[in-house]
Amino acid sequence: MGEQNWAGNVDYGAARLLRPTSVEQLQDMVRHAGRVRVVGSRHSFNELVSTPDTLISLAELPFDIEVGADGRTATVPGAATYGAVTAALHAHGLALPALASLPHISVAGACATGTHGSGDGVKGLASAVTAVEFVQADGALETLRRNDPEFAAAVVNLGAIGAVVRVTFDVVPAFDIRQDVYDDVQIGPYGDELLDALGQAYSVSLFSDFGSDRFTMAWLKRKVPSDGFAAPSPTWRGGPLADGARHPVPGQPPLGTTRQSTVGPWHERLPHFRLDVPPSSAGNELQSEFLVPRGQAPAAWRALLQVREVIAPLLQISEVRSIAGEEQWLSPAYARDSVGFHFTWVPDVVGVDLALTVLEPLLAQFDARPHWGKVFVTPVREVAHRYPRIADFAAVVHRRDPEGRFRNRFVEQVIGSHA
Ligand SMILES: Cc1cc2nc3c(=O)[nH]c(=O)nc-3n(C[C@H](O)[C@H](O)[C@H](O)COP(=O)(O)OP(=O)(O)OC[C@H]3O[C@@H](n4cnc5c(N)ncnc54)[C@H](O)[C@@H]3O)c2cc1C
Repeated sequence: MGEQNWAGNVDYGAARLLRPTSVEQLQDMVRHAGRVRVVGSRHSFNELVSTPDTLISLAELPFDIEVGADGRTATVPGAATYGAVTAALHAHGLALPALASLPHISVAGACATGTHGSGDGVKGLASAVTAVEFVQADGALETLRRNDPEFAAAVVNLGAIGAVVRVTFDVVPAFDIRQDVYDDVQIGPYGDELLDALGQAYSVSLFSDFGSDRFTMAWLKRKVPSDGFAAPSPTWRGGPLADGARHPVPGQPPLGTTRQSTVGPWHERLPHFRLDVPPSSAGNELQSEFLVPRGQAPAAWRALLQVREVIAPLLQISEVRSIAGEEQWLSPAYARDSVGFHFTWVPDVVGVDLALTVLEPLLAQFDARPHWGKVFVTPVREVAHRYPRIADFAAVVHRRDPEGRFRNRFVEQVIGSHA
């Protein structure tokens, strides 16, 4: 058995895995290894990482976190997990504005695919990045900063610009979040009510099993002291406050979820899952997600509900989230406030692909962009055309890596016709 992703649905096919223990060693490997792909914490679900050649993991590079003298930036290893980084930042009284549901993902890997949390005013994780330090194809250690014309290609980079060794974030003062869960909420008939609901807290996640028009749960995360959003009430959108802890997937034990109905530090409430409970080593799931422009979200959701008989049998749970528009050229939320429709599927690769052949043409009408790290069936080339700055991205990749050392089939397809 070769190197695989966390979910076990992708065998990377790599001839070898290298684990440098210093940046100098990494530079040497990049100079001499031929074609390479860098792997993060392996939480993507498609062929984005795959290569028949050399895979490099940066997990054994030294772990150091440096807070800027003015306390407004922090530089962290690209291979570090968000969980490790956020705990260290919190110890300095600092925070990041957005986090994904899982803290076990690596910083560079999550940013590379445009990973996001939720909130009308909350951008994806890459938007907090102000500088990226990477070993590029010729082995040189390069830094791209926010004011650099190539920076918009540097963070959501699909692993194509080089091996990201350090990432600098803009940080904010640490804050507290109150997390509340409501059961069985009614938001409908999915006109502007959907958008209104998504704007009712700093971060809102709406969960659906596609069994009915109702949402099985709403997870509301509010800043404390109040950030202007209403205090928790006993009911929300017709649904009662949950009478105990909940897992996003109905019926699953809530072990491993962040604490609910309580106030706690940002990094222990913004993610849905706790760092100290490892997600199973072989994730028994597949995931897909599609981001549509916010204004189109109600119509897109109605379209999805009309094919619920295709979705429901394969679904563990679906999640609707809001993402503020971003500047990175390959962010699925590039230049548009967005709503993401996420699907956690049962691990049935063939069945999920079949369902996606129904869903994706439906969502294409709403100019949906698939999450780069999750399962989709639309040809990668076609997806790339949904990004207005794809030619600029391709130009940066070609300039930084003229021989295509960091490219694999997936990346070739993204930049292929735009070179
Ligand atoms: C349980 C679970 C929950 C999730 N929750 C969310 C969520 O809330 N929101 C969301 O948007 N997504 C979510 N995801 C998706 C996940 O965030 C992305 O797939 C992310 O890219 C995974 O990061 P990784 O470190 O595992 O990257 P990998 O899968 O290892 O790699 C992804 C890409 O990053 C590149 N890469 C990794 N490290 C480096 C590096 N150091 N230098 C250069 N390139 C690098 C790889 O080459 C590849 O192109 C979730 C996934 C799982 C399994």
